[in-house]
Amino acid sequence: MIRKFLHQVFKRKISSHTANTQLSIIPPSNHGINRNLISPCALKVAHGLQKAGFSAFIVGGAVRDLLLGLKPKDFDIATNATPEQARGLFKRSRIIGRRFRLVHVMCGNETVEVSTFRGPLPDDNAVSGIKNYTDQHGRLLRDNVFGSQEEDAARRDFTLNALFYDPFSEEIHDYLDGYTDLKAKTLRIIGDPVTRYREDPVRMLRAVRLAAKLEMQIDPLTAEPIGDLAPLLQNVPPARLLDEMLKLLLSGHALSCVVDLRQRGLHHGLLPMLDVILEQPLGERFITLALKNTDERIQQDKHVSPAFLFASLLWHEVLTTWNNYKNSGEKLLTALYRAIEDVLSSQQKNIAIPRRFSATITEIWLMQPRFESLVGRKPLRLISHPRFRAAYDFMLLRSESGEMNPELAIWWKSFVAADPDNRAKMIPKPSSTRKRKKRTRRKPASDTASADQIPVSADKEKAVS
Ligand code: ATP
Ligand code: MG
Repeated sequence: MIRKFLHQVFKRKISSHTANTQLSIIPPSNHGINRNLISPCALKVAHGLQKAGFSAFIVGGAVRDLLLGLKPKDFDIATNATPEQARGLFKRSRIIGRRFRLVHVMCGNETVEVSTFRGPLPDDNAVSGIKNYTDQHGRLLRDNVFGSQEEDAARRDFTLNALFYDPFSEEIHDYLDGYTDLKAKTLRIIGDPVTRYREDPVRMLRAVRLAAKLEMQIDPLTAEPIGDLAPLLQNVPPARLLDEMLKLLLSGHALSCVVDLRQRGLHHGLLPMLDVILEQPLGERFITLALKNTDERIQQDKHVSPAFLFASLLWHEVLTTWNNYKNSGEKLLTALYRAIEDVLSSQQKNIAIPRRFSATITEIWLMQPRFESLVGRKPLRLISHPRFRAAYDFMLLRSESGEMNPELAIWWKSFVAADPDNRAKMIPKPSSTRKRKKRTRRKPASDTASADQIPVSADKEKAVS
């Protein structure tokens, strides 16, 4: 069976800094990639480079996904053309990146990433005036040394991510037995695991994400150092961690990833208190439901809002802090504002949540008490809020996790489903005691209806009024 996969036309041994490479060329009759699944833009770019005399291969995740019968998210091309040479070949293209310079080529809405083959970094950390390729923990600070195709393979993260596919000869070039690993469903890091994680601690998160997405086992030697090296993630710039966390949370396998991150001790510093939250029955239920919902939506190709996800992941931290402020005598809303501020600012140190997300997250949280106040025109005002849908879905999650009275959620569901003209009639009438009280204050009766006239617990209403 394995021999069938390893139809090696020729083999060549090359020694590289990080791994031993040996080229296998896998012909189309063996790998069976359907060329029609490749984006026209990727074909156009590969063709343009090859026509100009350069080599050009589809690489990385796209080859891996095509071999596994999955639809690639995006296409990357690796070439021996420099960024400037590649840039010169395509009108709609630009050079991006500093740490890792590459070219983006645009066709319509699609962007294909073109990267020049990378080589190993100089050993002594100080070559030709360029110093500090790595920081004191071994983390790569730049990676712009160009190299050969086989050196490029060895610089990649996992063996199954180091396959090169030529869309015209339709051959796969495999230097690191990635094809065998892929077929055996094994995720194996290239080279020495400790060195590779030190170079880029994000590879530990990628291991967890890819293993969950591809339903593969992490090879034991690849998995072993992860627990000990987890603290290295604290040295990764927050914006990069955010990128990687988003990929993980939007992978369609967020739940299994988060469970795995926690088991491997990788969640510290990413989502602080995740362990505490997951140990509280309500918190665990809430996060499990939120991630399960997200995974289902992604699998059904529905839109998922990252802001909603972060709001969910951090909600129980907000709840705890909110309660602490309330217990120390703060008013309900002031306490909530302060809790939000505390949680978001402590989060900025780990993952840089961009402003556009944090504004939505704050709105979702601040709207939560308003679902419990069914007074006068308040429900009508709430439902017309531009962010109502997200806040409403969030409230349903809270209710499903057992955090609030489920009857309140039932009321809101029927209110949302009702004809807008009939909604005002659905709002509970004020009780006689309230009416009397209000009349003495000379306020209109319509402003005084409250949730305690619908089958919703009175103490909940008290808590927010
Ligand atoms: P997906 O796109 O499904 O998330 P991917 O493997 O394609 O997965 P990308 O971030 O698109 O991930 O990276 C493209 C390729 O670049 C990878 O397949 C891998 O070969 C290489 N690569 C990405 N990140 C790293 C890293 N941290 N270290 C080394 N190589 C990497
Ligand atoms: Mg990719």
